[in-house]
Amino acid sequence: MASNDFSNQSVLDRMRSVRRKILVLSGKGGVGKSTVAVNLAAALAIAGRKAGLLDVDIHGPSVPTMLGLEAKQPGFEDGAIVPVEIDGIKVLSLGLFLRSPDDPVIWRGPMKMNAIRQFLADVSWGELDVLVIDSPPGTGDEPLSVCQLLGTVDGAIVVTTPQKVSAVDVRKSISFCRELKVPVLGVVENMSGFVCPNCGTVTAVLREGGGRRIAEDMGVPFLGSIPLDPRIAESGDAGRAYIRDFADSPAARIMGEIVKSIESSDPGAVPPVPRERPVSKEEQSMKIAVPVSDGKLSMHFGHCERFALVEVDPAAKKIVRREDLEAPPHEPGLLPRWLADKGANLVIAGGMGRRAQDLFADSGIRVIVGAPAGSPEAVVGDYLAGRLETGENVCDH
Ligand code: ADP
Repeated sequence: MASNDFSNQSVLDRMRSVRRKILVLSGKGGVGKSTVAVNLAAALAIAGRKAGLLDVDIHGPSVPTMLGLEAKQPGFEDGAIVPVEIDGIKVLSLGLFLRSPDDPVIWRGPMKMNAIRQFLADVSWGELDVLVIDSPPGTGDEPLSVCQLLGTVDGAIVVTTPQKVSAVDVRKSISFCRELKVPVLGVVENMSGFVCPNCGTVTAVLREGGGRRIAEDMGVPFLGSIPLDPRIAESGDAGRAYIRDFADSPAARIMGEIVKSIESSDPGAVPPVPRERPVSKEEQSMKIAVPVSDGKLSMHFGHCERFALVEVDPAAKKIVRREDLEAPPHEPGLLPRWLADKGANLVIAGGMGRRAQDLFADSGIRVIVGAPAGSPEAVVGDYLAGRLETGENVCDH
């Protein structure tokens, strides 16, 4: 977008050291715009880019929560606000200035515009390769002011959900970008299927494909579908960028596609110096616990004779060693803590009640239920080869 009358010179001066500005937009709130913005900034930082994240969603600034920054305060230096830094991302959000995350942000029109202007004009970003901007939702005055004040926006990512009602909003967002001459880098469809936390299967929940159809209709790239994954919401609540912990997930792969589209739309890009690749918890070390009775996977988790703790090399997809542990006394809540102490990351079981599964999740252990009664080696071998067939949770109480 070319500079225009609305551009504020001090904003442009401040933004001079920012090489590229990428806007994350959505037609309405709650579709995952901030989630995409946070993970995108994290993906860029991991790829070795000097990344910044600016949250100008002044009504619901959720970035501080999503990155665990609630207790942080931006600094002040030479009359400018200094962003907070986390995992190589410089972050600024209005939320960092609120006394409590529960404080409502109630501003009338001119106050909003002043807040946005001040926010863009008074921040010392330093040298940045990319600034990801979490825009206010919609196509009204607020995102319009943000674009106008920024002077130049190098690209926009439009986030949507699969339903038809969202489709109307995507069209509006794309038209909005076209009017402002902001190149649309692509459309991302979020929450377009459910990833089962137990077996990893993706099931359609909402009607899928809306985002792809509109992208095709309107001649903009479709960047991919991010499934509904409880771990995305959990990571957001826990203040961790999801892609750092789940680098191999479908959502993380789509973030990778978005990063590629940002890079390929940048004629001046020099190859980045990658930071350490995020190694997911399960890649670093993986111990799989299998409840055993009579030498085979026990269908009744809480009443097994012992646990086979099978250590695996996730990269080579090989079993490294197996250790057998006598099961501790059957006592509610004890097993998850006990297995977590032994270093287990995953339990493969025949049946397990919902409450027990929740307790395992609280201890950071993933659970797969409905596995067949094979030897622990056979069950773990099938899991590593991606051919473990799970059926009913045989003991769901
Ligand atoms: P927006 O910025 O569009 O208002 P958010 O990114 O804040 O939306 O997402 C709204 C809520 O939905 C958050 O709690 C977030 O963790 C959750 N969420 C977003 N995308 C997903 C997803 N693919 N799977 C599960 N939860 C998600």
